[in-house]
Amino acid sequence: MVSYKELGLVNTKDMFAKAIKGGYAIPAFNFNNMEQLQAIIKAAAETKSPVILQVSKGARNYANQTLLRYMAQGAVEYAKELGWEKPQICLHLDHGDSFEICKSCVDFGFSSVMIDGSSLPYEENIALTKKVVEYAHQYDVTVEAELGVLAGVEDEVVAEESHYTKPEEVIDFATRTGCDSLAISIGTSHGAYKFKPEQCTRDPKTGRLVPPPLAFDVLDAVMEKLPGFPIVLHGSSSVPQEYVDIINANGGKLPDAVGIPEEQLRKAAKSAVCKINIDSDSRLAFTAAVRKVFADKPGEFDPRKYCGPARDLMEELYKHKIINVLGSDHKAE
Ligand SMILES: [Zn+2]
Repeated sequence: MVSYKELGLVNTKDMFAKAIKGGYAIPAFNFNNMEQLQAIIKAAAETKSPVILQVSKGARNYANQTLLRYMAQGAVEYAKELGWEKPQICLHLDHGDSFEICKSCVDFGFSSVMIDGSSLPYEENIALTKKVVEYAHQYDVTVEAELGVLAGVEDEVVAEESHYTKPEEVIDFATRTGCDSLAISIGTSHGAYKFKPEQCTRDPKTGRLVPPPLAFDVLDAVMEKLPGFPIVLHGSSSVPQEYVDIINANGGKLPDAVGIPEEQLRKAAKSAVCKINIDSDSRLAFTAAVRKVFADKPGEFDPRKYCGPARDLMEELYKHKIINVLGSDHKAE
């Protein structure tokens, strides 16, 4: 048993309370590798933004949970080295799908876990979430739960259709499970293809897809039922078209990739939404930078020469999200 407190990590409790009061959201960035982690920590340290490092099931399989945890521990020290005296870094399990995975993360130094029982029948979701909460709270680890189903593909989380969260269920769910935050479905979606072209309109000038707006009425109804309760948005990448263009111009093929417009996320961040998950955008930044180097310099074979520019582009992306979308800069001085 390792407590996250020994590793210098924090849970989400204070982060979320301050974010709701202050009208901003905490960035939750997924990581699988060193360059991504360096970019996240540099961006957070330079902007003094609290940050949530997310590890998905796919990341655990890809990079190994033990290695990822030590990387997060290293990230705390790295942040201090960068001059961030009191880093506020949370290590969070993204989409835990069983009690065992959540327990293993709690025991292993994670400061927050998500138990995603959203695909289960309502009562089963409650029972599973409650079990995880009872275990995690013994160790002061915070728990995110989910109600409603997001569409899209994220690692092994696949859903064909989305189902908006039912506001009439949230009080019962939050009370009976004791969860610390709730991921809801209001039209965000996993992956780089958040909407099918037929769900969108097309901008006549640019020919680009314009996605349907998020269901802010559902968010408002949830906030009315649970005033001040931390709400989480998954699948909130914006799929920057400049990255998609670089990828497509350099041998890639991502036709009609589309995400959530940033002005909608800006609006959500000002509400009780206090955690916004961004993964696909960083994948796109990484891929765009690597493809560009490969196209410009076909003789390059030193991974540092293409992972380096990828890291720089991701750092720029993270800073942009922190400062211009979530508003979390200078909230962890
Ligand atoms: Zn998710």
